[in-house]
Amino acid sequence: MPMQFTDNVLVSYNPANGEEVGRVRMTSRQELDRIVADAQSAFHNSGWKSLLPHKRAAVLHAIADGLMAEKESLADLQMRDNGKSIGECRGMVDSAVGTFRYYAGVCETLETDVTPSRGDYVSFTVLEPYGVVAAITPWNSPLMNDATKVAPALAAGNAVILKPSEDSPLLAPELVRIALAAGLPHGQLQVVQGRGANIGAALVEHPDVRMVSFTGGTVAGRTIGHTAGERLIPVALELGGKSPHVVFADADREHAIAAVVAGIFGSAGQSCVAGSRVFIEREVYDEVLERIVERASTLCVDFPDADGVEMGPLSSLHHRRRVIDFVERAQAEGGRVLCGGRIPDDSRLAAGAFYLPTVIDGLPPRSRTCQEEAFGPVLVALPFDDESDLIEKANDTDFGLACGIWTENFKKAWRIGRALDAGSVWINTYKQSVTSTPFGGFKDSGIGREKGIDGLRLYAQVKSMYFGL
Ligand code: NAD
Repeated sequence: MPMQFTDNVLVSYNPANGEEVGRVRMTSRQELDRIVADAQSAFHNSGWKSLLPHKRAAVLHAIADGLMAEKESLADLQMRDNGKSIGECRGMVDSAVGTFRYYAGVCETLETDVTPSRGDYVSFTVLEPYGVVAAITPWNSPLMNDATKVAPALAAGNAVILKPSEDSPLLAPELVRIALAAGLPHGQLQVVQGRGANIGAALVEHPDVRMVSFTGGTVAGRTIGHTAGERLIPVALELGGKSPHVVFADADREHAIAAVVAGIFGSAGQSCVAGSRVFIEREVYDEVLERIVERASTLCVDFPDADGVEMGPLSSLHHRRRVIDFVERAQAEGGRVLCGGRIPDDSRLAAGAFYLPTVIDGLPPRSRTCQEEAFGPVLVALPFDDESDLIEKANDTDFGLACGIWTENFKKAWRIGRALDAGSVWINTYKQSVTSTPFGGFKDSGIGREKGIDGLRLYAQVKSMYFGL
């Protein structure tokens, strides 16, 4: 939650009740130099990059085991650090475990390409690690996002410096502790703490950092991309979204409505793939919207470990302030708030960063409310007349991360799925994710794909070798 910056210390507060959860020291520039030097030294001397793949895989499996053994305490720490419900936090530990196991497998099976003999030579390619990799992550799903970068970067043989968000700094040191206990050599995975514009920028600018993998907002992504371009080092960017969730008249409405509600109000909307714009075919617009509003207004908003909780607090009071401003601006733009749009009227929750699930309609697709990411529990509803109207409106944004399509007509689902600008298309489902399937964005939602085999190749450079015969 809200971080206090005192004497170079970050203090994390529980967004559900304002209590202190923990504190970490911010990394100084001098310490950064030492950490990068340690990473360089580990990369060259620890033997990690030249370990036989099955031995590297064994350590990655041991990290997964270590995470699993501490699942409850890690989930509890994440819940108190950023306010997601305990169920979601447990799911994120499971996801991190799965990611380490997946890349342990990929590490063992990844093959090189061989071109058969052309008479007097044979050629083939090998994958080489870059060296020291910077992994910069946001606050919304710390352990899961950390694992998505750290596991493949280590599997490829790199040394990794992890920079978690200053708004959720407590999980990354736990991951490093568990990884070292699992047998990862000293220096192969380290953490730096502090503000993005300070230690984050210094990390990206450091001459011995050879690759940057970033997940976060589009503004910081652009700055990091610019620096990486100047330095001519590879960069992977996983950025924001304004994902459309589409409900056709022929959809299974019961499931579609449940998915639209879960797609935006899960994690209190603080998810890059939150379905924050719902497009409803005009002939069923009123009925579907009414049912979405009815469901949203009865969601159980409570402490993240309460029985039956469906939505916890936002990650911090300052983030809630941003969401309040976003909704006020939506009203100034002419939007009608159909439910929510305010702090819950419940004295038990008064010390926390709670906000009610909010549904707004009546706005043009080009309004700022329909274009900008709220990163909170705010859904905007828009009608559409036909497929071409839908495609034009849904694609009329700078983002292109994900979309959801609800229809019983599979040919139509295919057409729309191909036509929408989105890195992930969910048809008659939403927010599913498996480590084996690539993930990333079109347009301003990012560059590169994490997860899957591509997720490991991000952290490796190809070397072509020729042997004369
Ligand atoms: P943010 O961009 O403010 O910060 C993300 C990380 O980058 C933090 O660790 C921050 O300290 C660091 N940072 C910020 N400026 C930097 C700079 N100039 N140089 C180096 N590091 C810098 O994002 P946030 O508020 O933490 O997270 C929310 C955003 O993340 C949303 O836009 C969300 O959509 C996005 N996100 C994307 C994905 C994805 O996979 N596409 C996943 C989760 C979150």
